[in-house]
Amino acid sequence: MTAEVIVDIAHSEVDRIFEYRAVDGVEEGCRVKVPFGNRTVDGFVMRLKEGSDYDFSKLKSIERVVDRALTPECLSLVRGISERYRCSKALTLRLFLPGEMRKGAVRELYKTYAVLEDANAPVPARARAQAAALGFLRENPRFGYTELCEKFGRGAVNALAEKGAISLVKERVTRSPYGGVSGESAARTLTPAQEEALRRIGASTRRVQLLHGVTGSGKTEIYLSLIAKTLQEGKSALFLVPEISLTPQMLSQLRARFGDRVAILHSGLSAGEKFDEWWRLRTGEAKIAVGARSAVFAPVENVGVIVIDEEHDGSYSSETNPRYNAREIAAMRAEYNGCKLILGSATPSVETYLKAAEGEYELIELPERINKKPLPEIFIADMRREVRRGNNTAFSAALRDELEACLSQGNQAILFLNRRGFAQSVVCRDCGNVLKCAQCDVSLTYHSEERCLKCHYCGASYKMPSACPECGGVHLSYTGTGTQKVVGELKKLYPSARILRMDVDTTSGKEGHFKILKQFADREADILVGTQMIAKGHDFPLVTLVGILDADMSLHFSDYRSGERTFQLITQVSGRSGRAEEKGKVVLQTYDPENYILRFAVNYDYKGFFRHEISVRRATAFPPFAKIVRVMVTAEEEKRALETLKEVYFSLKELYGEHTGDFLFFNKMHAPVKRIQNKFRYQVLMRIVNEALLPEIYARALQYKSRDVLVYVEENPANLS
Ligand code: ADP
Ligand code: ZN
Repeated sequence: MTAEVIVDIAHSEVDRIFEYRAVDGVEEGCRVKVPFGNRTVDGFVMRLKEGSDYDFSKLKSIERVVDRALTPECLSLVRGISERYRCSKALTLRLFLPGEMRKGAVRELYKTYAVLEDANAPVPARARAQAAALGFLRENPRFGYTELCEKFGRGAVNALAEKGAISLVKERVTRSPYGGVSGESAARTLTPAQEEALRRIGASTRRVQLLHGVTGSGKTEIYLSLIAKTLQEGKSALFLVPEISLTPQMLSQLRARFGDRVAILHSGLSAGEKFDEWWRLRTGEAKIAVGARSAVFAPVENVGVIVIDEEHDGSYSSETNPRYNAREIAAMRAEYNGCKLILGSATPSVETYLKAAEGEYELIELPERINKKPLPEIFIADMRREVRRGNNTAFSAALRDELEACLSQGNQAILFLNRRGFAQSVVCRDCGNVLKCAQCDVSLTYHSEERCLKCHYCGASYKMPSACPECGGVHLSYTGTGTQKVVGELKKLYPSARILRMDVDTTSGKEGHFKILKQFADREADILVGTQMIAKGHDFPLVTLVGILDADMSLHFSDYRSGERTFQLITQVSGRSGRAEEKGKVVLQTYDPENYILRFAVNYDYKGFFRHEISVRRATAFPPFAKIVRVMVTAEEEKRALETLKEVYFSLKELYGEHTGDFLFFNKMHAPVKRIQNKFRYQVLMRIVNEALLPEIYARALQYKSRDVLVYVEENPANLS
């Protein structure tokens, strides 16, 4: 037999299949060791066949089988994905394995036990330690070998083993990331609305179901019921959530419901834990894979249902090669397994909702909160009037009144704003110079606590200068407001309030954001100030007030999705208020109170928003009616970037010439941010109406990438900077 093998070599762009002689035990999907050049490398058996395209007698032999890492579905997906995104199969394969496993850095963890075999084994009179150990084992007939040696000495324990009084057995242990939570609790009684939603999902013949339910409508319970049903049928399940929603509370809820049958894949796990969780899924010991974007590659077989919560979330798009979208991979997997894909959200992406409205997806709606609890009322505060009245703080009078009332009743408040740090940027009032990062073409943000300037693109940090580096002027001023500044102002207004801040700067470390969320949930603070991070699915029963400090911020980005993002953000943040008994309120501050997006958001009018938005997109031919494709060319040497850009451009221009009617836009230019981390950035930007051109665009663009020039293709990029 001949094995077609993909070798896993670092930094290799070679996408070749190599043939080896199969040895006993080799199957399709096996990870194997193969000779390659003069070393031994890892490889994956993609296919077994009779005979060879080459001279069989000259083929080298596989050295040995490491394990059966890949499922048949994985082999099929690897082909599909590498074709779809034009990346090598070796690179695609890496998506399917935890990185630590590939590098061989983690192994199964074994523990050796001493097991009592002969309690009356003869022990020489002088061997006191042996006698003591034997006596101890009569009480504890199975005990850790290492621990036993620590107590009685290695010599004594080994002597007992030699004469057969004890045997030493090696057992596999799994590293558990759960810290002791387990048990399998019963499901709660569903509300009639939840029952009806489940019934409709069950009855539908459509592959994809959109569950559009307002915040707090009980979507999670529906997901769990679907998963439970799938398990009963002997199948497995995939459950994807945004990284930020993978809170310890959420995980323990899942553990309480499904016990050991859940495995969690997320970046907070140690390498060993990841490895073990992954194998529990691969062997079928665990049947429910839960995790963020990359969990879509979980090695479960015979999948009965796939759930993607907060389907609109940007984190489902990968920003490294291959630039896949987890929704798309999930759809491939649903197709392969013949199972349903459930997309859930309070604010579905316009693209998804259009498919539901047109009947391609089943649309299931939950328009009310559990127990008909009202959605919080949203009040608009006109910040132009505040400025006219001479209020230069970040808080409107309305928000201050509400904050006072909220705090005096012993409730909690969340204040949301889009910008971290203290001030957006530092400007010289003498020459107008804005302080910029030396490696990136972006302005720096002032951070008051560290008294430094930070680049939010590359993370570089600079000492705050005392004078303008351009003109030497000393009148440097701050513009805009960030989380640090808001906290400072709050402390002055409410000296006794306990305030927590949650943004990229305060959540570093493995469990940084869990800690802050837990402190807030445990009532160790009255006010939580934060960025996007606080918008997602957290359930804080005591929060009765949400303040949105700068609702306009995201509206004025020059991105076709800014309206959609703003609507989503307002709805999601507002959903944090009034989740328990007490009614919630939201104060939304804006300089643009007439804006239609804000009007729809205030009335929780998703359909109104959708109708408006989709008509704008249709009229302007933006996604989902066209696709924006950007080919990025970046290099440290500007000259090399430009040379490559020209080649890419001319090759694509040829395509453009042949299919002019399929292009709405075609141009090459500087990327809006000209340099990031010392790399110059150029782009060819296109808007196309015929997706069949995509493979050709990928092929033409990617042929020019080289050691020193990076070339990659983005589809509808979340960030056009
Ligand atoms: P969503 O995911 O739609 O925002 P959740 O699933 O978080 O909503 O549910 C909102 C709240 O309602 C949660 O506190 C949840 O525990 C509760 N809940 C959900 N289903 C039920 C039910 N059938 N009976 C009672 N409470 C429920
Ligand atoms: Zn920078």
